[in-house]
Amino acid sequence: MHRTRGRVAERAGDAMAALRACASEWNLAVSETAEGVIMDLPGARLVLQPTGTGLGIEIAAPDDVHLRAAQDNLTEVLAGGGIEIGWDDVAAGALAPGLSIGEVISCGQSAPGFLRLRVGLADAGRFASAGLHFRLLLPPLDRDPIWPQIGKTARVDWPDGADALHRAVYTVADLGTDWIDMDIFDHPDSPTCTWVRDAAPGAPVGIMGPGGGWVPEGDPVLLFGDETALPAILRILRLSENEVRAWVTASPEDLSALNADPRVKRVDDLLAALAGTDPGEAGFVWVAAGERIAREARRHLTERGLPRDRFSAVAYWR
Ligand SMILES: Cc1cc2nc3c(=O)[nH]c(=O)nc-3n(C[C@H](O)[C@H](O)[C@H](O)COP(=O)(O)OP(=O)(O)OC[C@H]3O[C@@H](n4cnc5c(N)ncnc54)[C@H](O)[C@@H]3O)c2cc1C
Repeated sequence: MHRTRGRVAERAGDAMAALRACASEWNLAVSETAEGVIMDLPGARLVLQPTGTGLGIEIAAPDDVHLRAAQDNLTEVLAGGGIEIGWDDVAAGALAPGLSIGEVISCGQSAPGFLRLRVGLADAGRFASAGLHFRLLLPPLDRDPIWPQIGKTARVDWPDGADALHRAVYTVADLGTDWIDMDIFDHPDSPTCTWVRDAAPGAPVGIMGPGGGWVPEGDPVLLFGDETALPAILRILRLSENEVRAWVTASPEDLSALNADPRVKRVDDLLAALAGTDPGEAGFVWVAAGERIAREARRHLTERGLPRDRFSAVAYWR
């Protein structure tokens, strides 16, 4: 287990209140123990111990990536309230947690409405498990890239101004030991699509992750998604050992092989499809689409009494 410790010298009450508010917003498990207040972040455990007017903080994580990511998040949350954490150790100058640098191998089309980008990545194997998604960091094509690094306070320093990176989230469509593929929905006004079309083989790319959850557990799993969720739906259909059924809004041309898959139904209205199923009979309901549909789906599933741990409804774009 990797560990780091830090302390807040004063305003312990404010620090604890800010962290409790975040835990509630992010739906994190919080327990009060003799050891202190324990909060479980994705991939890391936080122990908070009040010490007089201060607060002791310990982060434990199975690897350095999760440790440094939690350290960054925590430092950022408290900095928002003007509270500083003094850490015992900070990996200042290291690349941002989970960031690997690769280069464009090729760009083609996986379907009429999707670009397929293949990126060469020495440690692509990292993305085979633990998370379906990653953040794609695209530097301006006419400048030497400046990659985000861990700063002196443990927060990640992101390049800005002319060096700012475009950073959208994508799903691993396929991967080998030293490459990773992503399928990018080709929509109007997309800086990612413009970059991908303009980039030549060899252009540097940052891939940050993996994250964003793994194959949902439950039997059966019901998936509802739009085009941006199609790569995730394909991967879940491929990886899940349980029964999976999917409702997708995408053109028949973009569904390609899935048109003949009896588990998949093409629909025009995801919310109507969701309303037409009985969520109570599902092991897990998974929804990924634009912000409005994700919000409506969350409201619908809550109103129908589905417990919060039996569904996710995530905005894939805004
Ligand atoms: C966990 C996760 C996984 C994802 N996986 C994928 C994936 O594998 N493939 C994929 O294509 N997308 C995926 N997305 C969605 C993708 O991150 C967003 O669509 C993102 O906005 C794309 O960035 P961009 O550079 O194209 O546009 P942005 O710079 O984000 O936005 C530019 C403009 O495009 C609009 N826009 C963004 N998305 C859409 C859309 N789908 N339709 C119409 N207008 C849009 C915005 O409203 C804005 O006006 C995923 C998102 C998440 C959260």
